[in-house]
Amino acid sequence: MKRADPFPATPRILPIFLPYLGCRQRCIFCNEKIATGLSTAEISEETVQKTMVLYFAHFKPDDRPVQIAFYGGTFTGMAEEKQLRLLQMVRPFLRNGQVDGIRISTRPDEIDENRLDLLRSHGVKTVEIGAQSLVEEVLHRSRRGHTVEDVFSAVERLRRKGFEVGLHLMAGLPGDTPQSFVSTIERTIALQPDTVRLHPTLVFRDTVLESLYAEGRYSPLSLSEAVQLSRYALLRLEKAGIPVIRIGLQTTPEMEAPGNVVAGPFHPAFRSLVDAAIFREMASALLSAISPEGRTVTFLISPRDLSDFRGQKNENLDFLTERFRPEAIRLDGRPDYPRGWLTLQNGGRTVSMHRTGLHPVLS
Ligand code: SF4
Repeated sequence: MKRADPFPATPRILPIFLPYLGCRQRCIFCNEKIATGLSTAEISEETVQKTMVLYFAHFKPDDRPVQIAFYGGTFTGMAEEKQLRLLQMVRPFLRNGQVDGIRISTRPDEIDENRLDLLRSHGVKTVEIGAQSLVEEVLHRSRRGHTVEDVFSAVERLRRKGFEVGLHLMAGLPGDTPQSFVSTIERTIALQPDTVRLHPTLVFRDTVLESLYAEGRYSPLSLSEAVQLSRYALLRLEKAGIPVIRIGLQTTPEMEAPGNVVAGPFHPAFRSLVDAAIFREMASALLSAISPEGRTVTFLISPRDLSDFRGQKNENLDFLTERFRPEAIRLDGRPDYPRGWLTLQNGGRTVSMHRTGLHPVLS
C-alpha cells in the first residue's frame, strides 16, 4: 500500500561548526566545546576551507539538495568581513552546483535588514534561530539576553526577506515546566517556522548550569520526562505541519567522555527513544481496534522504521506481546512504504495510521 509522506526529505546538511564565534555572552547551559567537539582555537578559515574540500572529496551525492551550514555560534554577530570571507568560501561549490544553498544559525537579536541583505546576496537560503524557549521567565533565567518579542520580530523579518526559517528549542531549561513548554510549542506553531530542532537540556561541565546543579538550584529532566516532552512536541508540531528535523544533540566523543555531561537526559540515540515511544503508541492504537489475541498479526512498515518499532532491546515487541497476547507479531519492512506510517494486517482486516494520527497530549 503506497502512502504519501507528509514530510518530504530535508536537504542534506554538511555542518561546519564555529563554536561561540559572534556570541556576545555565554548562555548558562552552553559548552560548545563539548557539544561540537571543537574549540574556538581550532577554527580558522583554512580549516573551514579544508573541511569543505574534504566533504566533497568523500561524500556520495543522492537526489537531495545539499546545503552547507555554519553552526555553533552566532553567525550574524561576527564582524561583516568575517561573515563575507566564510560565505565566499562556499561560492565555488554554489557555482559548480555541488551546493544548493547555505544555512546559518544565529541569535534572534542579531538580525536586521542589512545583515539579511548580505546573507541573501551570498547564497544563504535558511536561517536557524536559537530561540530555545518562548517564555520570558525561562529566557531570563537561562541568561539568553533576548526576549520572546525578539524571536517574533526575527521570524517576521526573515519571512519578509524570503528566507526559510528554522527554530531551535530546548526542553527543561531553568524555570521551564510542562505548562511553559506547552506554551513554547503553541507559540512556535503560531510562528509557523519551516523546521524545528529540539534538544532536552543537558548539564555540561564548565557552565553556569553546572554550578546551579551542584548548588541544588537546578534539577534536570529525567530521561523519561525528556522523552515524554519531546514526543508531545514532535506530534503537536507535525500535526501543525512543521517538520522536526532533529531531536537531541548530535553525540560527539566529548559528550561520551566521563565528566563532560554532568547530569541530564543524555542518550546517544535520544531521537530513537522518542520514535520508539510513538511506534509503541501507534501499534497499541491499531491493535486495540481489532482482536489480536491468539492470532498472528503483521505490521507493514518502512524498513527504516523497523528498529524504532522494535524499541531498545525489543522493548516494544515485549510490551505489545504482553499487553495484546497475539500468537506472533510479524514485521514486514517494505522499501516503498513511507516513514512514519504503520499498517496492521490481521486476517482480512487492514488498519493504517500515520504518527500524526496520535493525540498529542502530555501524560
Ligand atoms: S548564543 Fe548559542 S552558541 Fe552562543 S553561547 Fe548562547 S547557546 Fe552558545
